[in-house]
Amino acid sequence: MEDHPVSRWRPPRVSFLLSPALTPVVFSPRRQTVTASVGNVAVGSAHPVVVQSMTNTDTADPAATAAQVIALARAGSQLVRVTVNNDEAAAAVPELARRVADAGVDVPIIGDFHYNGHLLLAKYPETARALAKYRINPGNVGGKRRDENFRTIVQIAVDNDKPVRIGVNWGSLDQDLLTEMMDANAASTTPRTAKDVYIEAMLESALRSAALAEETGLRHDQIIISCKISQVQDLVDAYRRLAARCDYPLHLGLTEAGLGMKGIVASTAALSLLLAEGIGDTIRVSLTPKPGGDRSEEVFVAQQILQSLELRSFMPQVTSCPGCGRTTSTYFQKLAENIQEYLREQMPRWRAAHPGVEEMKVAVMGCVVNGPGESKHANIGISLPGTFEEPKAPVYVDGALLKTLKGDHIVEEFLVILNHYVQRTYPAA
Ligand code: SF4
Repeated sequence: MEDHPVSRWRPPRVSFLLSPALTPVVFSPRRQTVTASVGNVAVGSAHPVVVQSMTNTDTADPAATAAQVIALARAGSQLVRVTVNNDEAAAAVPELARRVADAGVDVPIIGDFHYNGHLLLAKYPETARALAKYRINPGNVGGKRRDENFRTIVQIAVDNDKPVRIGVNWGSLDQDLLTEMMDANAASTTPRTAKDVYIEAMLESALRSAALAEETGLRHDQIIISCKISQVQDLVDAYRRLAARCDYPLHLGLTEAGLGMKGIVASTAALSLLLAEGIGDTIRVSLTPKPGGDRSEEVFVAQQILQSLELRSFMPQVTSCPGCGRTTSTYFQKLAENIQEYLREQMPRWRAAHPGVEEMKVAVMGCVVNGPGESKHANIGISLPGTFEEPKAPVYVDGALLKTLKGDHIVEEFLVILNHYVQRTYPAA
């Protein structure tokens, strides 16, 4: 049997119950921000945390990029960013936006600019209009003419009534500002650590740029800020400080999170700490995909982080036990996987036809030790027969035993019950 922590739990003494030190851990309220409108998506504390993603196609190829924008949007990405790095990419943006709209997908497309954004946005006015937001990295807008180039981009945003994200990145911090702050620190009688100064330089870069953007004419509610770092503790530290110093909406992301499990776990750790403190208005999970891998994975991970924290609901959640010596065949693992896949496949249709279904909880348990108990906590649950157990699978619906399935068609019969439950419990709006 899995080592369930509850089995070792003992009730605290009454005096402990009264102790303020044992106040249950609860999430902090969302940090209050202004609301920024990015196309049809509202970003800020008055609105749900927004999931966003970024394409990895060549933007100069409008067909391929539009296809990926559409796939990411259909996976649930509410904002999609594309790199705009040269003339060909800038020239392709209007067509890719048209292709996305022609597919019936209404998702704001954000342009990611480095080094030459001031030139490209000025040269391609239709692109400036087609994009819903411009991302500017203040460390990458030019050396001596940094402020001038930055102002040019902001003025184009003002003229087109577009918001900007001031996206500072650990890997491309404004080196002049960093040197200035490091020199001041070295001359201080109470110098701080180099890392502390580095984080302060990132915040300074973001907040100085925001002030410059407002001086140029951008409204306060047209600015979103991010300060991305690839180390979890440093990221949390930076965002805590940033959150305390401004009321701009914040975009969260652990930059260069990495491959597969490492990237998923590190991103989850970082974003969960901040989201639990009420910090964060949009999120992205920056996973390195496998060659030919599904780019939408980063969207699913971001959604799962928000749903696991019970901040948003995107799709029914499957509770399944890890299995143990009682489940020696792969039957149970296949069933859990099939049901998870089935739910994912149904969601595009269910989301429209059965509002509220994304809140449904499904339990798929490996044996009767914890199966019935866990099933009772779910909307609908099944406990499979463990090795050497009688070949029957009790199904619970809303906490009560509905029936016990037997034979070779347990999965099919369970899906029929599941479908009836969805239709009955989440009727069409
Ligand atoms: S198979 Fe049964 S005992 Fe094993 S982990 Fe699952 S519920 Fe627990």
